[in-house]
Amino acid sequence: MRAEALAAALVLAAAPSLAGDLGTEVTFASARGARFAVQAGPPAPRVLFDSGDSDAPAGEWDVLLIQGELPDPSVRFMALRPGGATVWVELAVHRRADGRFWAKGRFQRKAGPLRLRAVDAGIAADHEVTVYSAEVFADSPDAPAAAAPPARGPADPAAVPPAHHARAAWGARAPTNPLSPDPMPWRVTLHHSDGRYTASLAESLQEARFIQEFHQDGRGWSDVGYHFLVDPLGNILEGRPLGTLGAHTQSNNEGNVGIVLLGSYHAPKNHATTAAQLASAAALGRFLVARFGLDPDSLKGHRDYKKTDCPGDLAYPKLPELRRAFDVPRAPAIAASPDWDGQRGSSSAAKPTTDR
Ligand SMILES: [Zn+2]
Repeated sequence: MRAEALAAALVLAAAPSLAGDLGTEVTFASARGARFAVQAGPPAPRVLFDSGDSDAPAGEWDVLLIQGELPDPSVRFMALRPGGATVWVELAVHRRADGRFWAKGRFQRKAGPLRLRAVDAGIAADHEVTVYSAEVFADSPDAPAAAAPPARGPADPAAVPPAHHARAAWGARAPTNPLSPDPMPWRVTLHHSDGRYTASLAESLQEARFIQEFHQDGRGWSDVGYHFLVDPLGNILEGRPLGTLGAHTQSNNEGNVGIVLLGSYHAPKNHATTAAQLASAAALGRFLVARFGLDPDSLKGHRDYKKTDCPGDLAYPKLPELRRAFDVPRAPAIAASPDWDGQRGSSSAAKPTTDR
């Protein structure tokens, strides 16, 4: 029996299109994705699949993302830019227990095609691998690449978000395209909606529907761009699901949780932030810090990334106190000793400041 396990690449016919909100889909001989069978074999570095040179995606790129089905974890992916030196870059694979995976690689930024390979790293049984899509994008077309700071850790996977109204509560539509995974955020960006300053929960739910429609139908995005919406009453609404790539800070969406304050905190409207609203934003931040170990100082305003009024002259000055409020006391290495009143030392987070 032949050790070489590669079967034919099978294409999923679909027109090239924009993938997600910032990627350009990569096609191989005009087809997107690939499917190939692999067989268990001797543990050698066998090439299971080779795409050949892809079609040239538009524009420069430095990041390649693929996603699909990987029933056996012992398949590695690598890619290179054809033409130059033969430098295969291994993609970091993120595979879920159910076999769904995505993988990512970083390259020198320039235009041109790519070539993708799958390599055996100890396949246990015959099966089929599917790459649904491959996309490339420039991580930072108009700003230097922001290096991911080390997670502050320890992250607490069990941390739960503060009480909020899930998508179903406001009648969210489904995303118009599959959202790209972005499972380990390391920064947060504050926005304002530059829209209605809502005065009731019902009005906020309605405004969320509007913003989603505006983003999907107006801007042509897959979904509402932000991950969380916070109204002046302090209600938190779920936006684009956490763990998926946002669409709120152009060129800097990766690893970036978008929180939007409903209202226009800038001239001429000059809406005022409220204590309840800031408290809710702080609670969200504490959750993100606990869950992902991100640095409270990673909280920025949209205007820190590009020329924009967002989040408004009245909300932007709140960032320092929000950063302080994001700070979660580290879990002590040993159990806390009882404090002065005999209660266990609590890890109460910083109190939200009042405002107006
Ligand atoms: Zn913004």
